[in-house]
Amino acid sequence: MKGSARAVVIGGGVGGASILYWLTRLGWEDVVLCERADLTSGSTFHSAGLVGQLRGSLSLTKMMMNSVDLYRRLEQEVGLETGWHEVGSLRLASSEERMQELRRQAGWAKTFGLPLELISAAEAQELFPPMSTDGVLGAAHLPTDGYIDPSQLTFALAEGARRGGAEIYTKTRVTGMEVARGRVAGVETDRGRIETEVVVNAGGMFAGEIGRLAGVNVPVVPMAHEYLVTRPSGLPLDLPTMRDPSLLVYLRGESGGLVMGGYERNPAPWALDGIPEDFNGKLLPEDWERFDELLQNAIVRVPDLENLEVVRLINGPEAFTPDGEFILGESDVRGFWVAAGFCAHGLAGAGGMGQLVAEWIIEGVPSLDAWEMDSRRFGRHYASREYTLARTIEIYSTYYDIKYPGQERQAGRPLRLAPTYARLEELGASFGEKSGWERANWFEPNASAGDESLRPRGWAGQIWSPAIGAEHHACRETAALFDETSFAKIEILGPGAANYLEHLCDNRVARDVGAITYTQMLNARGGIECDFTVTRLAEDRFRIVTGTAFGQHDLAWIRRHLPNDGSVYAEDVTSRLACLGLWGPAAREMLQPLTDADLSNDAFPYMRAQENRRRPGAVPGAPRHVRGRARLGALLPDGVRTSPLGHDLGSRPRPRAACRRLQGDRFAQAREGLPGVGRRHHSR
Ligand SMILES: Cc1cc2nc3c(=O)[nH]c(=O)nc-3n(C[C@H](O)[C@H](O)[C@H](O)COP(=O)(O)OP(=O)(O)OC[C@H]3O[C@@H](n4cnc5c(N)ncnc54)[C@H](O)[C@@H]3O)c2cc1C
Repeated sequence: MKGSARAVVIGGGVGGASILYWLTRLGWEDVVLCERADLTSGSTFHSAGLVGQLRGSLSLTKMMMNSVDLYRRLEQEVGLETGWHEVGSLRLASSEERMQELRRQAGWAKTFGLPLELISAAEAQELFPPMSTDGVLGAAHLPTDGYIDPSQLTFALAEGARRGGAEIYTKTRVTGMEVARGRVAGVETDRGRIETEVVVNAGGMFAGEIGRLAGVNVPVVPMAHEYLVTRPSGLPLDLPTMRDPSLLVYLRGESGGLVMGGYERNPAPWALDGIPEDFNGKLLPEDWERFDELLQNAIVRVPDLENLEVVRLINGPEAFTPDGEFILGESDVRGFWVAAGFCAHGLAGAGGMGQLVAEWIIEGVPSLDAWEMDSRRFGRHYASREYTLARTIEIYSTYYDIKYPGQERQAGRPLRLAPTYARLEELGASFGEKSGWERANWFEPNASAGDESLRPRGWAGQIWSPAIGAEHHACRETAALFDETSFAKIEILGPGAANYLEHLCDNRVARDVGAITYTQMLNARGGIECDFTVTRLAEDRFRIVTGTAFGQHDLAWIRRHLPNDGSVYAEDVTSRLACLGLWGPAAREMLQPLTDADLSNDAFPYMRAQENRRRPGAVPGAPRHVRGRARLGALLPDGVRTSPLGHDLGSRPRPRAACRRLQGDRFAQAREGLPGVGRRHHSR
């Protein structure tokens, strides 16, 4: 075994094999893969192997299309069978809403050049003769989808990698990670140490425990997933794969028989207290009780299934994530990469995923926009096992449901609460959630002031309220108060802070104290990594306010570039500061009675920050120590603590200082006609 390598991939499933293959294809020869048992002994060997390309986003769809490109040619390239069957796919619609979903997908597919066409129920049956057309309104047919043999694919990828110079060590368990000064320095295995600066955690459902070796939280949950295999019964060998989302099931042909699985409503998380050490190449016991719902549904669509002999019910665990997307990219620990959590799409995604991750490692930036899969999209609240589990169960059990624009997840809520939460609730807020924070989308009592005739047609009008328009007008014509506490806030401190930020930001930010600058931080290719405002609070102190979901990512980017001499310190202060935004032409006038400071345009112009004391007695009952750091349109009251963990841990927000300030008589007078407004007016 080598003592050092340019990169070490952990995990010999289809994910790890694909990354290893692509690293060698892109010119890195000195790379190794460590697998604790044999290749494919995790989730890969028991995969149903369906490969569908059309997904909910451009990057994911491109990735799946890249997989198919590879699967078409790999067999010829390495001389090993891959079992790729390009039989096409059908997706059925058995309600008008589903038909609308298919029409949208057909339009979406065109933008990628995917040859997806809408066909009638009878045409679908011609392609898949055993199906019943009862209740089917139509189907989407994508002839370039198919299925593949998971083990053959993995062995072919491994062979391709070996030919490119890679070494593969099976029966080699990674037992430790060397991390020095926030960077990976090597891995320890039960067969010795390998020095390296790049480690890829492709451990599938084991990715959580491998992440912990490096102090990185990888929020994957093993979920048991089942499908049955029938004995061959003379069915055509070229049946397309078929999904009937209303019935929660998928099917494909297998040697003249059928494979049938699905996403049950009562999913089964597995091994939450740790995966057994010897769980290699194993399955879970058949669980017919859980599978029965799917079987009954499948018989509705393929009545003959009742008469086919079942050879086996496969029950295997697979890594799911709390938002149903892959977890890819470098973590907070430099050089420690994650490529896991494939949510039962690992076969479909592996070819393109391996390419994306290998390019990302070598070039430093991904060739596709990978934000939705970025390992740094999860905030620290995903360290809560209960929350992560609740979200993951919800993702799995609603997998096939139609997702309308603006749909909000419900599991694990409420989690993070602003001090204004109770007041917003009293005001009739319709809450949404982002990064664990409860945020008002709109206030339903404002609906009566809106215009119902503006409700968007079709899908976009499903989750909507006339209050949105009413609040928009109020903000444009007078002023409106927003709770922006969820915005992530990062402070940069120290004698080197100004120079450091000047180096990293593309705009000039080290201006005079009080200046607010909108800027980006760019990567080496000139692509945007971060997009936020920077406020200079003092000579050696800056505050960054960035999007709610970007805190973890932006802080990781900032910390990665900190100088080694200790002259700059970066800290996430999100949960320390509440934030209220007062916007609109009457904002200054409304705020003025609360402070002795001059809020006129000359004294307090656009993009400036000031620290203002509340005028004594302006808000009866408000604590004296509450001070506001204001910029035009936004208040960041110091001393008003938010509760990041909210109700669940029994730590309700401290007395609602911010709310009381709003309720004070003087403010109430000033704000007559001032509605609370929700987030549907702006995006972050
Ligand atoms: C029943 C079922 C049906 C499925 N059907 C489909 C489908 O139709 N289409 C589709 O696209 N996907 C499907 N999937 C999902 C797909 O199988 C997975 O997404 C994919 O196989 C995951 O690959 P992986 O490489 O991430 O993980 P794995 O295959 O689990 O590989 C991880 C590897 O890491 C190794 N390892 C763990 N810890 C260590 C360590 N400390 N040191 C060294 N090695 C370690 C393990 O031994 C394992 O081999 C299905 C999954 C299941 C369970």
